Amino acid sequence: MIVIENVEKRFGETTVLKRINLNISEGEVVTILGSSGSGKSTLIRCINGLEALSGGSITVDGNDVSTKAGLAAARRRSATVFQLFNLYPHMTALENITLAPINVLKKPRAEAEARARELMKLVGLADLATAYPQRLSGGQRQRVGICRALAMDPRYLLLDEVTSALDPEMTGEVLDILAELARGGTTMLFVTHEVEFARRISSRIVFLEQGELIVDMPTERFFAEDGGFAVPRIRQFLTKMK
Ligand code: ATP
Ligand code: MG
Repeated sequence: MIVIENVEKRFGETTVLKRINLNISEGEVVTILGSSGSGKSTLIRCINGLEALSGGSITVDGNDVSTKAGLAAARRRSATVFQLFNLYPHMTALENITLAPINVLKKPRAEAEARARELMKLVGLADLATAYPQRLSGGQRQRVGICRALAMDPRYLLLDEVTSALDPEMTGEVLDILAELARGGTTMLFVTHEVEFARRISSRIVFLEQGELIVDMPTERFFAEDGGFAVPRIRQFLTKMK
């Protein structure tokens, strides 16, 4: 379980996250919605230790991400996919995917490569193992990014607007893969602007407003007229996104 307790994050004078409390249990797919600048990426970056907390605590299966040993253990359990694909340009798709399993998990190369090929097949990239990133379309690169995360056998997958740099067709490709993973029981914490997709795959939706978590509801409640939709700020957000 990921446990986020009273988390605060300040940049200088500005408080970007205000006393955030959120738990993610295994098997859940939780989507974070909120306007631009509400703190969604910062929260993801706090969970994977890319930002230090100004207050509160985050644990991943009991490992406190604010300690060095805790963060190392937490990072073996969770993997992050970012908006921009961040692939190494001088490495093939396969090499990008096997790098961390070989170096961090100390997997034998043959085993890491076999797993990478299996994952590439799963996302429809079986023929592109030896391709370099510049030869791949945006959707293909993002699918390599997802394989790279999955190659670490993470218990938790953190996804920050993984489709926002893609055109609609490629977005569809990537969302299909994520829906498949969700059906397969992968635990996900998902930041997206794809509200209809979030509605389809999430078990819960949380809404951030200027650094505050103002709503945490089962997906069905969130979209109900007398649920999330009854909160003026959320109604406004959802109406604008349509
Ligand atoms: P978007 O939907 O546009 O991606 P977001 O919800 O992910 O937005 P964040 O990127 O988390 O928002 O940013 C939240 C706030 O924190 C913004 O006001 C942003 O300017 C500020 N911020 C983020 N990173 C830093 C930083 N390194 N230094 C100072 N301010 C920062
Ligand atoms: Mg963001």
